[in-house]
Amino acid sequence: MEKATSNRQIPIISWFIHVLFPQMSGSAVTAGDSKVRRTRSLFSNLLFTFMELGAATLVSWLFFKCGFTETNIITVYILGVLVTATVTTSRICSMVCSISSVLIFNFIFTAPRFTFAAYGQGYPVTFLIMLISSFIASSLMVQSNQYARQSAQAAYRTKILLDMNQLLQVSHRRPDIAAVTSGQLIKLLKRDIVFYLVENETLSDPEIFFLDQAQSEAGCCYKSKGERTAAAWVYENNQSAGATTNVFPLCQCMYLAISHKNTIHGVIGIPLQPAPLDSFEYNIILSILGECALAMENELAMRKKAESDMIAENEKLRADLLRGISHDLRTPLTSISGNAGILLSSGSTISPDKKQQLYQDILDDSLWLIQLVENLLAVTRISNGSMSLNLSSELIDEVISEALRHFNRRHIRHNIQVIQEEDFIMAKMDVRLVIQVIINLVDNAIKYTPENSDITITAARKGRQVIVTVSDNGSGIPDQDKQRIFDMFYTASTNIIDSRRSLGLGLALCKSIVEAHGGTITVSDNQTKGSSFCFTLLAQEVTLHEQTACTGS
Ligand code: ADP
Repeated sequence: MEKATSNRQIPIISWFIHVLFPQMSGSAVTAGDSKVRRTRSLFSNLLFTFMELGAATLVSWLFFKCGFTETNIITVYILGVLVTATVTTSRICSMVCSISSVLIFNFIFTAPRFTFAAYGQGYPVTFLIMLISSFIASSLMVQSNQYARQSAQAAYRTKILLDMNQLLQVSHRRPDIAAVTSGQLIKLLKRDIVFYLVENETLSDPEIFFLDQAQSEAGCCYKSKGERTAAAWVYENNQSAGATTNVFPLCQCMYLAISHKNTIHGVIGIPLQPAPLDSFEYNIILSILGECALAMENELAMRKKAESDMIAENEKLRADLLRGISHDLRTPLTSISGNAGILLSSGSTISPDKKQQLYQDILDDSLWLIQLVENLLAVTRISNGSMSLNLSSELIDEVISEALRHFNRRHIRHNIQVIQEEDFIMAKMDVRLVIQVIINLVDNAIKYTPENSDITITAARKGRQVIVTVSDNGSGIPDQDKQRIFDMFYTASTNIIDSRRSLGLGLALCKSIVEAHGGTITVSDNQTKGSSFCFTLLAQEVTLHEQTACTGS
């Protein structure tokens, strides 16, 4: 690929190489077949041929003066024919060189000299053999040159496709694939590239990839109405159009569809000024577009798979939720309606203690239902990706007190204690969601430990983090369950005090909320007995003003 750029590196030297040895300068690989170029190439080849004939004649003249035989002189001319056939790209030059060599040899070196006559009887045969051997040598050389050029082209084409393949492997988005494809085409063709992507089954606005960013204002002509119409036609008909075709031939660009099995992923526009494409370029463009279409097809398939995976996941979540909820809602609702029924029908006959118990049960069940619904709503918001945090700086002791207020109305026979290592610990949080986390952790501690167990809530500040820990002295969580209890719908083998109330939602929700705050939540064994849940939040500095306000309140 570097070959094609070499023309501009050292102007005079590269011009010389370009004119005399076009196949060496790389232009033979990428140049168009325009008439101008061909004429220039023929001119430079003829120039080289005449220079070579001059050099061969000079050397032969020296040989002649030194008394060398005619055989040596003939060898010099055949060598000259070989050099011409090697360096030049045109067969005409080899033929001109072969015929001229015989004529010059006859004219200068055979008696009578400086005429085209020859006295020796064997000369016609010498001339004929010289001519035939020159022809054979030159055509062999031209042929081997052609093979070399073809294999150089094939290697160049393979390299471009290989590079493209490697780049496409790390491009997973459509715009990236378009950029890689256009980049390779620009390297190959040394032209701007116009790329129309197909998005949602319509042709999007064109993106123009410029060969030379400095000339980017030229891009507006690629966006003209005529050009867009041609591109749209290509998209609708899956055929080429534009310059050099019969459809919209006046366009600046030739438009080709990027398609795979009748699915069109885009349309590419290639400006055909100043020169049209040659067959080598055209073939490699088709290969590149094939690769591009394949990459887009894969991207589309992956996107569809991700979408269907997400739909399946949502379906599964919905089904699991529905199954879990319908089972878990029925029990407390039956209990509430049963207890309310008893109170209504025989309220006057049952003892005040029994009545109190029934009221308490109704309250417990309805609070549990409220808690469940809160969790469900939060889960739905998170799984929709619609959870946006309403962040504010809050004093952690106030948040803990607010969460514990939730348990005040419940009939709880556990010893809940709050320990705060500093007076004012402030953290950045969505207060409603963090209250929900603390409620879930304390609720679990109550649920999974026997009555009169100790539950300790500790808040401490460590560097830029606030660490909140909820510990209990229950039976703890087995090690094999610790990894999974934060998964949705996972319920561990812990003995539950109230077996009907285990849904496996609470900790999964805590994890989502804490992670949305940029924190972490972990579980470990409590120092003495039971388990200890610990989550972190981002600490906030308490300003003097806030401290005074808090102390005042
Ligand atoms: P749920 O409580 O509805 O089952 P969670 O996600 O809150 O759902 O808890 C998941 C599991 O973790 C529970 O089933 C329980 O086995 C275990 N677990 C949670 N907290 C505790 C705790 N404090 N002590 C013992 N086991 C617990």
